Amino acid sequence: METSKYTIKATRTKESKINEVDWDNIPFGRVFSDHMLVMDYKDGKWGEPEIIPFGDMGLHPATSAIHYGQSVFEGMKAYRTVDGDAVTFRPEMNAKRFRKSAHRMCMADISEDLFLYCLDELLKFDDEWVPKKHTNSMYVRPFMFATDGYTGIKPSETYRFMIFTCPVGSYYTEAINLKIEEEYSRAAEGGVGAAKAAGNYAASLYPAKLAQDNGFHQLIWTDAQTHEYVEEAGTMNILFVIDGVLVTPAESDTILAGITKRSVIEVAKDWGMPVEERKVTVKEVIKAIEEGRMSEAFGAGTAATIAPIKMIGFRGKEYHLPGVEKRTFSKKVVEDLDNMKYGRTEDRFDWVH
Ligand code: PMP
Repeated sequence: METSKYTIKATRTKESKINEVDWDNIPFGRVFSDHMLVMDYKDGKWGEPEIIPFGDMGLHPATSAIHYGQSVFEGMKAYRTVDGDAVTFRPEMNAKRFRKSAHRMCMADISEDLFLYCLDELLKFDDEWVPKKHTNSMYVRPFMFATDGYTGIKPSETYRFMIFTCPVGSYYTEAINLKIEEEYSRAAEGGVGAAKAAGNYAASLYPAKLAQDNGFHQLIWTDAQTHEYVEEAGTMNILFVIDGVLVTPAESDTILAGITKRSVIEVAKDWGMPVEERKVTVKEVIKAIEEGRMSEAFGAGTAATIAPIKMIGFRGKEYHLPGVEKRTFSKKVVEDLDNMKYGRTEDRFDWVH
């Protein structure tokens, strides 16, 4: 048996909360598993990871993450397969993206290897929290924040890496209505849009709230300079099927490189579907809907996998898409991904860990 180059300390909770969970009705992000993983960085290196009972922690009032926002995170899921194993889906991509986010925010580096070790150890420890029902899964939240208690602005010298997990129910999303945003921006060239940095989400709340006050679920973000190009849909990537081609904005430093989107693209290519990753204009999106050439549009992200878009609002007008029941591609792609995650079909891309 291979022995790990890392070691870990673990303390089991005296009061497990697992019997309090209503597995048929789990609210998203509000139920937490019994344990969490904590690992501190100081003197230029990571200390030993530790699994401890989930709970509050003390913080210095000058904790620099709170004041200056050196804080990054990941979002991923664990699934219970038909064989009873707990698995994750392409976790090495989360590890890579986490590292990239940390680098952009001038934070401590964590190797993919160490990230994956911590993840696996926590998931093994709280294995029984990975839901058994196939409509459920476990949301996993790795994150890192700056912990220097110092009021000056500079990269922190100390950091804390943590992971906690939340069993979640099926993320049913009704088809969504999105407004094309032309005033506010999520990300600008040279900025931090390609990083999963906490502040990106804070900055998006106000414009999203304005859209929600007007009956939309979320926004379609456009480029900060011209607002002529489509970038993302809320906190998801955005994809369209136009004239039978899967079209999506190419990754750039203003777009988060989503793992769901990447997987959808790879599956589509595997099926022989033409795929275009390029700049996508607002104009062509509107035109394609008007001319009936857009058969599907959807957001892609870990939480929902796919969120079908029902209507797009642009400059006060509503542009309606074909009914969800007609969306053969997105339906098939979700089924295919779910079959891989839950171990119902062969893992032909070697994505399941
Ligand atoms: N864009 C943004 C801004 C996001 O927060 C997310 C969710 N992580 C995504 C796209 C989708 O990424 P993924 O498929 O890896 O969840």
